[in-house]
Amino acid sequence: MLLFFVRRRLMELLGLGSIFTILFFAGCGAGDSDGKLVVVSTTTHVTDMVKFVAGDRLEVIALMGPGVDPHLYKPSAGDAAILAKADLILYNGLMLEGRMADIFAKVSRRGTKTYAVTETVSEELLLEPKEFEGHWDPHVWFDPEIWSKCIEVVRDALSENDPAGKAGYAERAEALKTQYLAVTHWAQSRISELPEESRYLVTSHDAFNYFGRAFGLEVLAVQGISTATEAGLADRVAMVDFVKKHGVKAIFVESSVNPAIIEGIAKEAGVMIGGELFSDAMGQPGRLEKGPDGEQYDIGTWVGMMKHNVNVIVEGLK
Ligand code: ZN
Repeated sequence: MLLFFVRRRLMELLGLGSIFTILFFAGCGAGDSDGKLVVVSTTTHVTDMVKFVAGDRLEVIALMGPGVDPHLYKPSAGDAAILAKADLILYNGLMLEGRMADIFAKVSRRGTKTYAVTETVSEELLLEPKEFEGHWDPHVWFDPEIWSKCIEVVRDALSENDPAGKAGYAERAEALKTQYLAVTHWAQSRISELPEESRYLVTSHDAFNYFGRAFGLEVLAVQGISTATEAGLADRVAMVDFVKKHGVKAIFVESSVNPAIIEGIAKEAGVMIGGELFSDAMGQPGRLEKGPDGEQYDIGTWVGMMKHNVNVIVEGLK
């Protein structure tokens, strides 16, 4: 800790803001956290999965918290220091963390193992949206089948780096898959309450294509796959027309995207905002919410995030 402080002071004195320089200085701290391996995870979705499978055997440090947009996320100098002490790094991949590619390349060249949790997903399951040609849609946590496969990558990555914990990782990975399956069945049954003609999901950015495919909703977003592309006037006009034409009952804002565009469209189209969905970031871990059936869930977990979203969508559209 003292060494880190000294390094940081030195950086400040030298006026060096470069994260790569800090990486260089912080590079010798791997594995010094109470003897536990240090796992660094990126998005809230990945963190939740890694924490569950890791149990208390490993120290898991998250880079991105609730409300953080991973498309635009740039690693800070503090993150560089955290990444430098990681024994392994788990991230979403499929270019979701678009601005972190350089730093991942850098740390992996230095010998830190990096794993994209999506690395074994079959290409047949991935979507390649027209406006994002040549790239896969990275929002795969909304497809329970794909996201369950990602649990296996986490399990294997942890086992490879901590073979003594293998049985525990396997056990918790199976338990998590069972939870995912149960939520998926629950979500299918809730969405089936909606009349066919009401199954439209209109949101800020194109995060819900997998969700729409998995649960039978037609999805439309005003911004593209990445929030880095801004919506133009034509996109807004097209969306107002779509909402009116299909008699869409409600449209939705997202917790990690500025709500202004959706609010403007809602006003123009004369439609209500059905609520806030978790798209690229989940809620605060440990924060409980009560669904319309009285069931409580933690919106900082994948399971709770799915329950929140499905409840908000169904209540808004029915
Ligand atoms: Zn996104």
